[in-house]
Amino acid sequence: MSDYVFSPPDQPAVVVQGGGLFPVRRIFCIGRNYADHVREMGGDPKETPPVFFTKPADAVVTSGAAISYPPATKDFHFEGELVVALHSGGRDIKSREEAGGLIFGCAAGCDLTQRDHQAAAKKSGTPWDTAKGFDHSAPIGAIGRYQDFPPADFDHARIVTTVNGETRQDAPLTDMIWSVPEIIMALSRQFELKAGDLVFTGTPEGVGPLSVGDKVEVVIGGLPKLEFSIAGANEQS
Ligand code: MN
Repeated sequence: MSDYVFSPPDQPAVVVQGGGLFPVRRIFCIGRNYADHVREMGGDPKETPPVFFTKPADAVVTSGAAISYPPATKDFHFEGELVVALHSGGRDIKSREEAGGLIFGCAAGCDLTQRDHQAAAKKSGTPWDTAKGFDHSAPIGAIGRYQDFPPADFDHARIVTTVNGETRQDAPLTDMIWSVPEIIMALSRQFELKAGDLVFTGTPEGVGPLSVGDKVEVVIGGLPKLEFSIAGANEQS
């Protein structure tokens, strides 16, 4: 018998390829991590330090879902991204080897964004929460275990996002400004990382708006595919 005054919410989780569920603790995201995307957003990659933001753990959505077009935006964008899932954590991680040792696996994800809210936040210097941390903003495919997808396999992997079968983003993961271990090291200087953390590692150029009825796919190398569709209001499944 617990002392909770009502039942705690369900533990958000992501499916693991081959079986099991990965319990999600926090979702960290890096902004501006591919040179071409930085340029398309009007920035200079060499002068930009890593920028982090978060999404709530219960923003995760399983592959195959229909996601309702959010009610308070008129510019709802996809950002295909590699997601890294951690099975352990730490603070102030100093080596790439130690950072790599925290990784449970990787997945194809999409950092759904209310671009109009983000533009307003950038202009006024206000928080990004409604732009990035809204409900159902983190669809993610099944996690491939790290031992099945070691770093060498990613050397030639591309991240490809299609909308209604049309390729909208297609870039090698090696175009990242900050590598996965560098992201983990930088995050660990700001936060104590723990098992269950997910890290969205940024999006390449080609982001764009979504409409009701669109079907989105994100494919990264041999990882399980992420797919979802955009439903009208109150049609979430
Ligand atoms: Mn992003």
